[in-house]
Amino acid sequence: MNTQQIIDTTEDNCFHVYNRFDVVFDKGEGVTLYDTDGKEYLDFASGIGVMALGYNNKEFNDAIKTQVDKLYHTSNLYYHPSLAEASKALCNVSGMDKAFFTNSGAEAVEGAIKTAKKYAFNKSSHNGYGIVAMENSFHGRTVGALSVTGTESYRNPFYPLMDKVEFAKFNDFETVENAVSSDTCAIIIEPVQGEGGVTPADKDFLVKVRELSDKLDILLIFDEIQCGMGRTGNAYAYMGYGVKPDILLTAKALGGGLPIGAFLVTDKVAKNSLTPGDHGTTYGGNPLCCAAVKASIDLMAKNKLTDNVNSLTPYLEEKLDEVVNKCDIALSHRGKGFMQGIVIDNKVKAGDIVKKCLAEGLVVLSAGGNVLRLLPPLVINKDDIDKAIDIIISVCNNCN
Ligand SMILES: *Cc1c(COP(=O)(O)O)cnc(C)c1O
Repeated sequence: MNTQQIIDTTEDNCFHVYNRFDVVFDKGEGVTLYDTDGKEYLDFASGIGVMALGYNNKEFNDAIKTQVDKLYHTSNLYYHPSLAEASKALCNVSGMDKAFFTNSGAEAVEGAIKTAKKYAFNKSSHNGYGIVAMENSFHGRTVGALSVTGTESYRNPFYPLMDKVEFAKFNDFETVENAVSSDTCAIIIEPVQGEGGVTPADKDFLVKVRELSDKLDILLIFDEIQCGMGRTGNAYAYMGYGVKPDILLTAKALGGGLPIGAFLVTDKVAKNSLTPGDHGTTYGGNPLCCAAVKASIDLMAKNKLTDNVNSLTPYLEEKLDEVVNKCDIALSHRGKGFMQGIVIDNKVKAGDIVKKCLAEGLVVLSAGGNVLRLLPPLVINKDDIDKAIDIIISVCNNCN
């Protein structure tokens, strides 16, 4: 099939639920993607924060190839070595006590909601099942995850959703306090909001929410599906804040590109919530995806990727200052580590800048609030940053 045939065949046969860009990617190498015409693209999107190790990492590929030849599915009725290894590595790197593997981020959110409800159900003093979530949050597209997603337009066509969800304002503790009631079993927060506009939480906000949760025995859920796995310069963003959740959600970069997520809990939660029969998945934590988790955690440590994030973040932020200084439509920037957003003046759509960057050979993303979102692989260097910023400045200054 030639490039146009690939596009046409996809559109003829796939349910039109995505407005895809007019590009057909064929292969990747490091931080570079190639389309079917051989054109190069510098990737500052990582497949939405997934390809943290970059493309075609040989050690990663070898690890999953080895597993393919051994075993890639058994179901959760049996033990297998890669589940043991992946869960041990993940508990170790995340600082949590027990892991449950899922196939996606949304499923990790679903598992967390069920865990919190069961925890509340088990307490004789408290049968609450309500959840407090944040405005502008994003937690996924399944019905439970959508119910706690703070973008009205995503939820609107699908009511009735899950009952008893209250939205509070991100970084505004008083609104959280007001939203919490005797019915509340959990508060769910992204320590750095991704989809909603790349907005980091204030430390003071998270500290106060933690104190409130402890006082009322409400579970605090951190959705680190996007900001976790090294992206903010810590293995998980909560570590940088010094505020530990009761339930931690991870996915996106977790499997180095293979589809796997997890929800992780503390021992206290594990002992007082889900028990055999309460939850399950056919594929979740299969040998192949677990080998991918083990390999991506090992390679993150071996290649010192959080060190790379921490050492290059000041430079990246300096260059983002430059974008704001040189481009009238770039109003400000915000973010943490390699999760950065540039706020774009409303007279130009961030989505149009994304399109123009793509034409110039740079892959970037947009986010809510008219933000240009950068989620580069964690392996980028200074040169990559210079190239990306040059393209962004040139596109921003030529889009009127
Ligand atoms: C992407 C994302 C999800 C949903 O993950 P899927 O794998 O697409 O289901 C949930 N929460 C956050 C913060 C995300 O960025």
